[in-house]
Amino acid sequence: MKTVEVPAKTIPVMAKTDVLVIGSGPGGLSAAIACAREGVDTMLVERYGCFGGNITQSMVGTLAWYRSNDRVVDAGGIGCEFEQMSKRMGASLSIFLYEVIDTDMFKYVADTMVTKAGILPVLHCATVDAIMEGNRIKGVVTESKSGRQAILAKRVIDATGDADIVNFAGAPYRIDPKDTLEPVTVNFGCSGVNIQTFLDYILTRKTSIADWGQKSGEKEAEEFSTYLVAPFLKAKEKGEIPKDAHLASYWNDFTDAGEVRSLNAVHMPGYDCTDVWDLTKAEIEGRKHVMWAIQALKKYTPGFEKARLRTMGASLGTRESRKIMGGYNLTEQDVLNQARFKDSIGINPEFLDGNNVAIMPSTGRYFHVPYGIILPQKVENLLVAGRCVAGDKATHAAIRQMMCCTVTGQGAGVAAAVSVKDKVTCRQVNMSRVQKALKKQGVRIE
Ligand SMILES: Cc1cc2nc3c(=O)[nH]c(=O)nc-3n(C[C@H](O)[C@H](O)[C@H](O)COP(=O)(O)OP(=O)(O)OC[C@H]3O[C@@H](n4cnc5c(N)ncnc54)[C@H](O)[C@@H]3O)c2cc1C
Repeated sequence: MKTVEVPAKTIPVMAKTDVLVIGSGPGGLSAAIACAREGVDTMLVERYGCFGGNITQSMVGTLAWYRSNDRVVDAGGIGCEFEQMSKRMGASLSIFLYEVIDTDMFKYVADTMVTKAGILPVLHCATVDAIMEGNRIKGVVTESKSGRQAILAKRVIDATGDADIVNFAGAPYRIDPKDTLEPVTVNFGCSGVNIQTFLDYILTRKTSIADWGQKSGEKEAEEFSTYLVAPFLKAKEKGEIPKDAHLASYWNDFTDAGEVRSLNAVHMPGYDCTDVWDLTKAEIEGRKHVMWAIQALKKYTPGFEKARLRTMGASLGTRESRKIMGGYNLTEQDVLNQARFKDSIGINPEFLDGNNVAIMPSTGRYFHVPYGIILPQKVENLLVAGRCVAGDKATHAAIRQMMCCTVTGQGAGVAAAVSVKDKVTCRQVNMSRVQKALKKQGVRIE
């Protein structure tokens, strides 16, 4: 790659804070709220115009779809508060056995929770570099309509999903070859659907989780799934859409206004979402796939005859990219064998969905989420939250789930706050004080 020299520049400091959280998906939002509740100054910086990450930008409202049976164990904490608050504010819908978040309304729910927690918010502000002093992070460089500015902080939490800050700070991470990464998706919704006709069709088809074609067991064959692939196969067979179109739908909700608001139908492999050329290509290719999907749904799905595109995700939905090398790297054995850790910051049910495995949490089994997986190697006073935490390929299918992202987020927020109050680095933080504070915030850690 050709390079060019850019002259060094003195830039204004836009703010100083105790704890700075970058990225506001399930991980970052939980981190900021948890941290502010511990009484330290907290800032939350987001590159787009709303908080919520994949929930609000890519229309992923199924925070709790794994709760499709009554034997699930829950971590409690802020993830569950998101659900309760959404329900209280009219921002969720009951579908089958669980609640789906209204992803547009969640923008307002998130604003309300951020404001109530006393967080200093910054929207429309991308972080583009880390400010280092030796191996300690001291702040970040941002780019916005106000120009290039710095934010200084005692602790930084990277909740960008892609471990951007870890990358800028020079902490070690890995990223798998792009043809092995989880696919990317342009989510979309339709209006003009005859819901009763559509539901009658779906319920007679009796599709289950085993139909996804991922590695799963007997119990998954018993679990109903909204999986829908027949219309796309039919349109391919008739030569109406390309044979290699990556289409299979998991649709998430419906309203009595004739809307099926989130169709997770486009799954495109082979994209690296830390590469701007790939992101551009995937957005454009994804929207083309949406058009093919709607064409097939209208022609071959009862109830969809008069359907129209209602909305597309404001951003491409991404599932997997950089993973940090942590103080501890979670293993497949840990998530499948109910691992227990002394530095637990929460629990997660034995629930895996991704990288060709689908295991539903219908056994009551669960594993501890250890502090080590949110602690990057080599750089001090930096934590991560959300899907980029440390672990092998198999664990990503569990750890990327939004509820687990809220667990790592709340753990990071509380640990950062305790380390500021005790004037020790994040690596030296007193775990029993962190765990006590987490329990007080309603998190189950044992
Ligand atoms: C289509 C799709 C369907 C899914 N379905 C489910 C499901 O049903 N259930 C489930 O639990 N999970 C599901 N997932 C996975 C889940 O959505 C993600 O794993 C989860 O949202 C990750 O949370 P996060 O907080 O780590 O990151 P994200 O939700 O990606 O949030 C990261 C945030 O950081 C911001 N950001 C990034 N870089 C910067 C920067 N440099 N500066 C400032 N801000 C930045 C982004 O704008 C974003 O707001 C799905 C994912 C996709 C794409």
